[in-house]
Amino acid sequence: MSNVIIIGNGPAGISAALYTSRAGQNTTIIGKDEGSLKRAEKIENYYGFAEPITGSSLVSQGILQAKRIGVKFVSDEVVGISYNGKLVVQTKDNEFTADSVIIATGSSRTTPKIKGLKEFEGHGVSYCAVCDAFFYKGKDIAVLGNGEYAVHEAAELIATSKSVTLLTNGMELNAEVPEGIAVNTKEIESFGGDGVISEVKFKDGTSLAISGVFVAIGVAGSTDLAKKIGAETDGKKIVVDENMATTVPGLFAAGDCTGGMLQVAKAVYEGAKAGTEAIKYIRNIGDN
Ligand SMILES: Cc1cc2nc3c(=O)[nH]c(=O)nc-3n(C[C@H](O)[C@H](O)[C@H](O)COP(=O)(O)OP(=O)(O)OC[C@H]3O[C@@H](n4cnc5c(N)ncnc54)[C@H](O)[C@@H]3O)c2cc1C
Repeated sequence: MSNVIIIGNGPAGISAALYTSRAGQNTTIIGKDEGSLKRAEKIENYYGFAEPITGSSLVSQGILQAKRIGVKFVSDEVVGISYNGKLVVQTKDNEFTADSVIIATGSSRTTPKIKGLKEFEGHGVSYCAVCDAFFYKGKDIAVLGNGEYAVHEAAELIATSKSVTLLTNGMELNAEVPEGIAVNTKEIESFGGDGVISEVKFKDGTSLAISGVFVAIGVAGSTDLAKKIGAETDGKKIVVDENMATTVPGLFAAGDCTGGMLQVAKAVYEGAKAGTEAIKYIRNIGDN
């Protein structure tokens, strides 16, 4: 068990780890790639670099800096957060427990542009299996996605639903699908229904009757993860107070995932603040 688990190895996550680790807290960062910075070719508005630096080198320098002071790194995709007396972070194959968790996963995923998806939000379109499975008890439902996160959501839903179909929307399936979950790889034309979703129409003219669809494209976004453990979100942001605390005790968030200015400088400040508040939280509960 780590005292602190940080999800995300971008500027916010690394900055938080520098504080927690140097304060003697056993710190693990779980991250899956370079985040937004992999697309930033030239950064020249961040303090301390005489010459412009690439986003990739900023990330790799941060990782080396954190490793040097003892932060552990796990390269994996987080699919859920829950609580069983401690905070539990789930990846595809593993579970990690901690006293405190900091979400630093960058800005949330965008919703795919498929006709009907936005319109039926809250009327058959959901973004969180553990939050909404109950409403679809005994019904035929679908999960939109093609990777580990989609399979995780489908597996969560199969226990309560009549049937679950994974809709890949023409994308190649990138995960092993457990028995009992159907897979449909056809390209989607639209979602339809009268007030609530009742079907998905495919581009080949066929359709499938469904009572709901759970969107799980790509990886679990920041707000998806926050919602799974009941933390308040506001659109694509995780709601935090001035101490970067979410509405769940021990759970903090920092960086692009809290909205506002999407910049490295702001992510670094919020990571530092979340890290110092996580330390206080752990000391208060008396674990360290
Ligand atoms: C093209 C481009 C250019 C930019 N240029 C600048 C600039 O010049 N100056 C500037 O200040 N800012 C710039 N930015 C913005 C800057 O990149 C972000 O504000 C900053 O990286 C936010 O840091 P973060 O740590 O919050 O998120 P990110 O850097 O996005 O890091 C998110 C981390 O979370 C991980 N992650 C996400 N989901 C999961 C999951 N489910 N499981 C495990 N890990 C996960 C990712 O792997 C990554 O490690 C630019 C952004 C882009 C896209």
